[in-house]
Amino acid sequence: MRVAIAGAGLAGLSCAKYLIDAGHIPMVLERRDVLGGKVAAWKDADGDWYETGLHIFFGAYPNMLQLFQELGIEDRLQWKEHSMIFNQPDHPGTYSRFDFPDLPAPINGIMAILGNNDMLTWTEKIRLGIGLIPAILQGQSYVEEMDKYSWSEWLQKQNIPPRVEKEVFIAMSKALNFINPDEISATIVLTALNRFLQEKNGSKMAFLDGSPTERLCQPMVDYITERGGEVRLNAPIKEFLLNSDGTVRGFLLRGLNGAADEVLTADIYVSAMPVDPLKVMLPAPWRQLAYFQKLDGLEGVPVINVHLWFDRKLTDIDHLLFSRSPLLSVYADMSNTCRAYTNPNRSMLELVLAPAEDWIGKSDAEIVAATMSELEKLFPTHFSGAEPAQLLKYHVVKTPRSVYKATPGRQQYRPAQKTPIANFYLTGDYTMQRYLASMEGAVLSGKLTAQAIAAEPSLPMDEATVNLTTSQPAANVATV
Ligand SMILES: Cc1cc2nc3c(=O)[nH]c(=O)nc-3n(C[C@H](O)[C@H](O)[C@H](O)COP(=O)(O)OP(=O)(O)OC[C@H]3O[C@@H](n4cnc5c(N)ncnc54)[C@H](O)[C@@H]3O)c2cc1C
Repeated sequence: MRVAIAGAGLAGLSCAKYLIDAGHIPMVLERRDVLGGKVAAWKDADGDWYETGLHIFFGAYPNMLQLFQELGIEDRLQWKEHSMIFNQPDHPGTYSRFDFPDLPAPINGIMAILGNNDMLTWTEKIRLGIGLIPAILQGQSYVEEMDKYSWSEWLQKQNIPPRVEKEVFIAMSKALNFINPDEISATIVLTALNRFLQEKNGSKMAFLDGSPTERLCQPMVDYITERGGEVRLNAPIKEFLLNSDGTVRGFLLRGLNGAADEVLTADIYVSAMPVDPLKVMLPAPWRQLAYFQKLDGLEGVPVINVHLWFDRKLTDIDHLLFSRSPLLSVYADMSNTCRAYTNPNRSMLELVLAPAEDWIGKSDAEIVAATMSELEKLFPTHFSGAEPAQLLKYHVVKTPRSVYKATPGRQQYRPAQKTPIANFYLTGDYTMQRYLASMEGAVLSGKLTAQAIAAEPSLPMDEATVNLTTSQPAANVATV
């Protein structure tokens, strides 16, 4: 069966990969001239890469890790020490670590928390532990129910001291969804804690050894095209063309550079576009359906990725760092963490600026100036004295609508991959799956969409249609 997929982000490519495995023929149509969507990256005139986002892979990403194995590229994941490292704003230039010992979960997580005395007092740790008990005892159904609260509200309800939020959870909320604890849904943080602490290596982090476009998306494209599928760049979908019964008749592709528009037909159609452009493109008859109306409840959150090249090394730390800066979220010296970006003499910092609402409209120069002021606090010794570190060049990548903003009450708006339209499916990190809006969520959603298509009884089945295994945690797994 021919399946046309709009969007070559991780969800669209994952969907195509698993459709190929199930014996179908996917055609992926990507609007831009670059693969990867929110993991897209570009090479500048000097040959240096810059990316849409600083991307971290976790041990608790079973579908992503399975995909790496299936593509034979596991060696491209550069696993770091099992630690979480935070800057200490009250002691500029110093770090506080949560080190996970080589013990089974959740003991290693408990030991990591108990072993850190810089950020939380013993009383605060005990109050946090007690507060988390309902989530531990009542499992996933409790976690889903907590979507009515923001994380700040949930912490207050559980009597967890405000300092715990300030010390630990501002950094965590910003890393998870680019927003603060008073905005993020409690379900998101509880889900992450659940995934990270339940498995021994759940919170262990890896960096890809190069740009995601080249080192992850391209192998997916090779896998798809070598087996008869197709991936086209510069192929923007302009419109979903409908039959009189409301099903899809074709994708209308916008002709570029003066070329005529083109109608592309297939047996099945998939949107792997983000939710914001999808909402704009919904045909009028579909807008009457409750399934599509619910999408109005989802909207992408702004975020900015800043890359700064310096004339010297600022740090030797080969890991992700939680800045705990009001302006920034996480950052890393990519000249240490990523093989393809290695430089023994100079640092290339990649920093996520979030929340970015107030910054997304500002110029790159303003954003870089504000980031440099923050760096003076994060690296006090390098930006003072007679010979301060010099910024050699920068790139700023703004994403005005990135992953959906996971404020309280959003879970109910996340759609299933199967739609009410017989030959039209959705995929993407925002669709309903158990792993938040993330690379893991995108890959899983692609697999779920492929499964739903392959399981369609009215469609011809190929011999491999059942050979798709998904790693979703069981419905009632205990949390944290
Ligand atoms: C700054 C930043 C940091 C992040 N850090 C992490 C991290 O550390 N770990 C993690 O797991 N996740 C992280 N994420 C989230 C992760 O990148 C996303 O969840 C994931 O990549 C989304 O994949 P997707 O395929 O669902 O959507 P997208 O990647 O958005 O793909 C959608 C594709 O559809 C295409 N498209 C849109 N309109 C059309 C059209 N009309 N016709 C054809 N194609 C179209 C787009 O160009 C795009 O390629 C981060 C994201 C950002 C922005």
